[in-house]
Amino acid sequence: MAKGNINVSVENIFPLIKKFLYSDHEIFLRELISNATDATLKLKHLTSIGEASVEYGNPKIEVKIDKEEKKLHIIDQGVGMTAEEVEKYINQIAFSGAEEFLDKYKDSAKDSGIIGHFGLGFYSAFMVAEKVEIITKSYKDEPAAHWVCDGSPEFTLEKADKTERGTEIILHIAEDSTEFLEESKIRELLMKYNKFMPIPIKFGTKEVNDPDFTPKTTKDEDGKETTEPHKQITVDDIINNPDPAWTKQPTELEDEDYKNFYRELYPMQFEEPLFHIHLNVDYPFNLTGILYFPKMTNDLNIQKDKIQLYQNQVFVTDNVEGIVPEFLTMLRGVIDSPDIPLNVSRSYLQADGAVKKISSYITRKVADKLKSLFNNDREDFENKWDDIKVVIEYGMLSEDKFFEKAEAFALYPTVDGKYYTFEELTNAIKAKQTDKDDKMVILYASNKDEQHSYIEAAKAKGYEVLMLDSPIVSHLIQKLETTKENISFARVDGDHIDNLIKKEENAISKLSDEEKTKLDELLKEVVPSEKFMVQLEAMDSNASPFIITQPEFMRRMKEMQATGGGGGMFGMGNMPEMYNLIVNTNSELVGEILNTKTKKKQERLITQSLDLARLSQGLLKGEELTNFIKRSYDMIK
Ligand code: ADP
Ligand code: MG
Repeated sequence: MAKGNINVSVENIFPLIKKFLYSDHEIFLRELISNATDATLKLKHLTSIGEASVEYGNPKIEVKIDKEEKKLHIIDQGVGMTAEEVEKYINQIAFSGAEEFLDKYKDSAKDSGIIGHFGLGFYSAFMVAEKVEIITKSYKDEPAAHWVCDGSPEFTLEKADKTERGTEIILHIAEDSTEFLEESKIRELLMKYNKFMPIPIKFGTKEVNDPDFTPKTTKDEDGKETTEPHKQITVDDIINNPDPAWTKQPTELEDEDYKNFYRELYPMQFEEPLFHIHLNVDYPFNLTGILYFPKMTNDLNIQKDKIQLYQNQVFVTDNVEGIVPEFLTMLRGVIDSPDIPLNVSRSYLQADGAVKKISSYITRKVADKLKSLFNNDREDFENKWDDIKVVIEYGMLSEDKFFEKAEAFALYPTVDGKYYTFEELTNAIKAKQTDKDDKMVILYASNKDEQHSYIEAAKAKGYEVLMLDSPIVSHLIQKLETTKENISFARVDGDHIDNLIKKEENAISKLSDEEKTKLDELLKEVVPSEKFMVQLEAMDSNASPFIITQPEFMRRMKEMQATGGGGGMFGMGNMPEMYNLIVNTNSELVGEILNTKTKKKQERLITQSLDLARLSQGLLKGEELTNFIKRSYDMIK
């Protein structure tokens, strides 16, 4: 038997490991299973190139709990180690890695994923074990070895009588970590980190119906049928799917396979994804994965953190911030790449060249997929538009590259359910909706019911009205106005339709200047000036006499403030509710107001008209509404 000191200058490294990595101590299992997987895949490789003259067979990894003895076993059938290799890989290399690790990353050690990269993987076992044993038999014709270490730098290494190839790691679970002797806890960890690892992982056994057995059905004299019970057999409980969909070629998979995989990823999710994007690249970096577009709601915040990041089928994290462009964090699915450096902070990650390339690759793939969906089945794409527009609009706002690509598939629906691309839209409205200054005015609504009368007024002129109702639409409009030449957006309720798209100078006023002044004075006495800017306009005599509008600019700034960014830079603080009151001087009612003899009656007419205009905008509430109704009844009595 050999005794020795592990080659380490930091005497008390184990307490350090425990302390620094404490918050992540559950990852020990992931590390040990990763090692078992590596050892098995190494053997596979060696047998495939004829280096190892043993049968590869169907190796698995077994995880076993011995609650009585307080032990956890991880057993593989991989390459194993000779005594010499244990000395080299466990005693020396591992610890030089550990030192380096502790030196460099004392502060950021909690960043998971870091451990495996510094050869500290194996030693993470000491976060939960007071003693660790390795019993290992190499595929080479050499005796098995037994290594024991109780957490001090001393270890023992002796011969063992293990005959089958592979490695067994035995953890003597420490007093403060007995949760790792619970079957439910281990199962949970296996499901979290190892659900898609490439070697089958056995955890216990289960009873299933014997596939080779067909239950017989017999009939008695009365014709009653009885079927004998199915024969049960005991099989290994394999907890993982070693061949998840993303590791396959897109050509091998049907639409149904992608849907099944989605269910495997999100068992609690009952809604089907709208479509998927298979990522597959091996140059200049390695990346595979499948992204899914789920149905989106208008709430941008609740839907993030659903993409899972793997490294060679080992789960790393579900926080892909910095790796996937922000607007795509609303998607779901998996990304698997050995090329993402995880041993660095998130801010560094964003500056990393390889990661930038990955991020722009993903953006491009998503744009290409959307484009092909649009081209292959436009109707289907239009039907899905409402469920995906948030992501696309958000992407257009945040990534210029995506904005350019989205030109081909971003849709602008009308209130009548037509869907235009931007180019189609401008072609369709060019003739009618260009104003006297040669500017094309794109009309839109955000709510069909609330803006009904304005929409109708626009349609009566033969104008198209878009239906734009996502939460970030004011930002997007702003972006379109600055990138496209000579267009402007106007919400239908922003002004009278003739003012939104000014065709020629205003109609001739029926009122003389004197009458206008008189009207203006009358209005000022009744209409509260802190709420309304009164504007006299000579319009069509059929147009409404009183119209309340909220100027486009003001409203948009307000909306942008509410969704963050944009408006804030104008330093408006909290803008007051301010509306325009457009009074149509050519309307019959205005003529009547002027001709009415008593002041009291004039005021009544103005109040009533103002209230009607407010009512149509949903601005009449509380006491004012009560008074209005009372007054209206009095009038018709
Ligand atoms: P890493 O996996 O990053 O190399 P670890 O500390 O996890 O670092 O493991 C150190 C080394 O010990 C491995 O590189 C491998 O050579 C050896 N090793 C660990 N576990 C096993 C195992 N189950 N079978 C064979 N070799 C192993
Ligand atoms: Mg390892």
